[in-house]
Amino acid sequence: MIIVMKVGASQAQVEHVTQKIEALGFKSHVIEGEERCVIGAIGHEKKKADLLALNSVPGVEAVIPISKPYKLASKELRKKPSIIKIHKNLSIGGDKIIIMAGPCSVESEEQILRTALAVKKAGGHMIRGGAFKPRTSPYSFQGLAEAGLKLLDKARQATGLPVVTEVMSQRDVELVERYADVVQVGARNIQNFSLLKELGKIKKPILLKRGMATTIQEWLMSAEYILSEGNPQVILCERGIRTFETATRNTLDLNAVPILKKESHLPIVVDPSHATGIRDIVIPMALAAVACGSDGIMLEIHPNPDQAWSDGMQSLTLEMFAEGMQQLRAVAKAVGRTL
Ligand code: PEP
Ligand code: MN
Repeated sequence: MIIVMKVGASQAQVEHVTQKIEALGFKSHVIEGEERCVIGAIGHEKKKADLLALNSVPGVEAVIPISKPYKLASKELRKKPSIIKIHKNLSIGGDKIIIMAGPCSVESEEQILRTALAVKKAGGHMIRGGAFKPRTSPYSFQGLAEAGLKLLDKARQATGLPVVTEVMSQRDVELVERYADVVQVGARNIQNFSLLKELGKIKKPILLKRGMATTIQEWLMSAEYILSEGNPQVILCERGIRTFETATRNTLDLNAVPILKKESHLPIVVDPSHATGIRDIVIPMALAAVACGSDGIMLEIHPNPDQAWSDGMQSLTLEMFAEGMQQLRAVAKAVGRTL
């Protein structure tokens, strides 16, 4: 339910309402708007009717049900886009499009530093790189684990750019949180609800990748798991879904971008690398993603893609990345955004 406060309702009235919400066994989420404050009351569907009595509490304008199954992620609760702070001077969800680039896996100090410096030089905003890798085969390279996180930290120090890296297990949340500026949940963990709940308790933003067979509604329900535990910093990432098409690794569902903009206030990033699996078509799809309203782009890049320990086929060379950045800048400008 959404409790809409009257314009000019006092702080004391807002607190009184949140106490009442919590006394009824719901969690309250206060959202300060420019004009008025709204309070989300989230809890058991069965007890929803109890909240209607709040209609007559001083300062309350209206009590409105949220029709969607996702509540905190929904546009019904929060009309304006959420702007999520990633680092001192970097936020996502506003006019600026955020470029996150780096190798699929962190392999060595030389590899990550060279790549990170290229990201910085071309005007990218964040470094990506996996230290815990969800590989289809248990015999494939699984990532450097904490040693990889330490290398990402070196890359951050060398460039001043924040780092996004994946956590695969609930067991490693504390470790990854210590090194990452943004914690990534991979496609394969989208419905690992225990992991999502744990990530709802941390203070870092979460990049939540869409699963390969996840509907937009299921994806937003996964975001809801994180939000409902108290972490409001969720960034969604479209990375392609499985379809009957075999010409590409996945099918990039760009429809998701404008749909999510309509349904949710959360920022959205597009990852055309995993979505296509093919180096030559990554930039064209990145341009399309910017054109249709994406707030950020995640790209896999590598100093020597043919030698990459994972996802080499879809990794751009550092030169392709620098050139792609120029094109991305032009499209961003054409749609009234900066990069
Ligand atoms: C990745 O970002 O390297 C990755 C494994 O992505 P996804 O979870 O989307 O497959
Ligand atoms: Mn990858």
